Amino acid sequence: MEFDRAGVNTLMEITARPDLIFTKGQGSWLEDHTGKRYLDFLQGWAVNCLGHCPEPLVKALQQQAAELINPSPAFYNQPSIDLAKRITGASCFDRVFFANSGGEANEGAIKLARKWGRLNKPGAYKIITFNHGFHGRTLATMSASGKPGWDTMFAPQVDGFPKAELNDLDSVRSLIDDQTVAVMLEPVQGEAGVIPASVQFMKDLRELTRQHDMLLIVDEVQTGMGRTGKLFAYQHFDIEPDIMTLAKGIGGGVPLAALCAREAVSCFEHGDQGGTYNGNPLMAAAGIAVFDTVSAPGFLEAANARAEQLSNGLMALSEKWGMQGERGLGLLRALRLGKGDGPAIVAAARDRAPEGLLLNAPRPELLRFMPALNIEADEIDLMLSWLDELVGLIRK
Ligand SMILES: *Cc1c(COP(=O)(O)O)cnc(C)c1O
Repeated sequence: MEFDRAGVNTLMEITARPDLIFTKGQGSWLEDHTGKRYLDFLQGWAVNCLGHCPEPLVKALQQQAAELINPSPAFYNQPSIDLAKRITGASCFDRVFFANSGGEANEGAIKLARKWGRLNKPGAYKIITFNHGFHGRTLATMSASGKPGWDTMFAPQVDGFPKAELNDLDSVRSLIDDQTVAVMLEPVQGEAGVIPASVQFMKDLRELTRQHDMLLIVDEVQTGMGRTGKLFAYQHFDIEPDIMTLAKGIGGGVPLAALCAREAVSCFEHGDQGGTYNGNPLMAAAGIAVFDTVSAPGFLEAANARAEQLSNGLMALSEKWGMQGERGLGLLRALRLGKGDGPAIVAAARDRAPEGLLLNAPRPELLRFMPALNIEADEIDLMLSWLDELVGLIRK
């Protein structure tokens, strides 16, 4: 197949994309328009938690598409109920609102917290978020994010998101005032370069938010659905948040997101929240297939074994090449390169022949790894040996 240059130029140019078009995917492998294969450690940005085109997901979509796609969110449908029952049954949350993207779920969390503030702490609307945090690309979620430069990009910002430092409780405490209603954070900052919150910090944060009658919101868009080795990352910290958002992994590749809240916080009234596609049975059926696969006996144990293998392998590479170690939780990991050749390694990995490797450098001095949770042990070994070879070429 030819590269469709004219076709490409009908798309808005929103990021630098290489001259290749992916045509097929299976498990941890993608195939481009020339038939070249790539070992995929991006998986659609941690979205395809079961890899490309996994059978349970394909089947669920096919069956549900033939049965009922969307009766309208003004009516109940069984798949959305069944998925909400699964999520609430496996977490500390009681109510779920389904949405289509992480940004939208977080937007809903912000609205829910502000509504709760209006009802319970009159005048309180501020939500403390964190420098380098990432919550999405809507105006409010960009304002909640702590990405450098994002505060002025589409000014004026949405007001009310003072920024603290991850793992620094005093930086949170010093921002609290009468108008503060919540703290929102990623249990592992993903886009910032895979920086986990410490267990002590999360426990202290839970305590602090309780003392001040504030909500704790965890953005588990990237960390949820087994990515960190537990079904939800907050479960590593022995805490119970008030609100959690999910996206990415819960749809296994299709647009599905969830805003989850405890009963006492589920204060939306009719007209406060909605969306044409929310809880549509097609995506909910996909979510059920993913949920049942990830929560099946042995699945997370196997993912954790792969995570340990990846962590050990990255550590060995770091030692061999004089890098600065690796970090992460479960199968969300980063290799700290010690210098800014991440983008060069990413490009060389992709262009590698005869088979390519897809990696991501969220920062120049860092590589991020987010493979399918059901990746095979020999695929991890293959990636590690290719990476070793690539670093050798680039640093020779
Ligand atoms: C990807 C991501 C988002 C945004 O999700 P979209 O589905 O792209 O809107 C929000 N928060 C975190 C932590 C993410 O990783």
